[in-house]
Amino acid sequence: MRKLIIANWKSNPQSITEAIKLAKASDTRNVVIAPPYPYLEKLGGVLRHASLSSQNVFWEDGGSYTGEVSPSQLKNLKVTYAIIGHSERRRLGETDEIINKKVKTALTRGLKVILCVGENSKVRRRGALASQRYVANQLKKDLSGIKKQEMGSRNLIIAYEPVWAIGTGKADKPGDATAIISSMRRELLLKYGSLGGSRVKFLYGGSLNAKNAFQFLSREGIDGALVGGASLNPKVFKAIIKARDSL
Ligand code: PEP
Repeated sequence: MRKLIIANWKSNPQSITEAIKLAKASDTRNVVIAPPYPYLEKLGGVLRHASLSSQNVFWEDGGSYTGEVSPSQLKNLKVTYAIIGHSERRRLGETDEIINKKVKTALTRGLKVILCVGENSKVRRRGALASQRYVANQLKKDLSGIKKQEMGSRNLIIAYEPVWAIGTGKADKPGDATAIISSMRRELLLKYGSLGGSRVKFLYGGSLNAKNAFQFLSREGIDGALVGGASLNPKVFKAIIKARDSL
């Protein structure tokens, strides 16, 4: 199975014409494209190989919630994945409690969840152990109440995204990211046993580019990558996919 590459376009581009152009350039198997909500439906009809993800989702399946998008609305648009808990949303006030509700509803409604966790620079300066504890605590809260069976459903993907590496051009060291991911994998194995813990995929995200992609993707413990800025440049994104395909 090829490693997974996820393109998080964030709030870009500004027109559907540009979005279609970008999607066509990235349309490859084992690639997931997460465009802004307004482009999901149209891109669903354009993509032949890549899958679609939302960048967020609400925790209720419909009702009086102005401005929110429900998991079933996404499912009905043939959206397969939902990114939940991205640090840019946490920065806007999304708490672990909110994230936990979103993860639960999304999984129940059949979306595959890409849960983002990661420490800030203050925590990382305290060392690897502090970072491991920080992400373990995020996982504990974000996955609270999730059953072993759901963990084993292969519908949960965890993206380790050190906050200080996102959009800064300063990626983590592949060895350090792998060590933190291994610590999370161990936590899940301890808590959910081999059937639950071993089926969760772990991705790295944070300033991944054409130059460093191979170093991260060639690590056994890293199952793929979440790519922000570099996914908006077709040439660079293709080079990342090429690095993945060369494995
Ligand atoms: C992201 O937003 O998830 C991300 C990894 O961004 P970037 O690749 O730009 O650091």
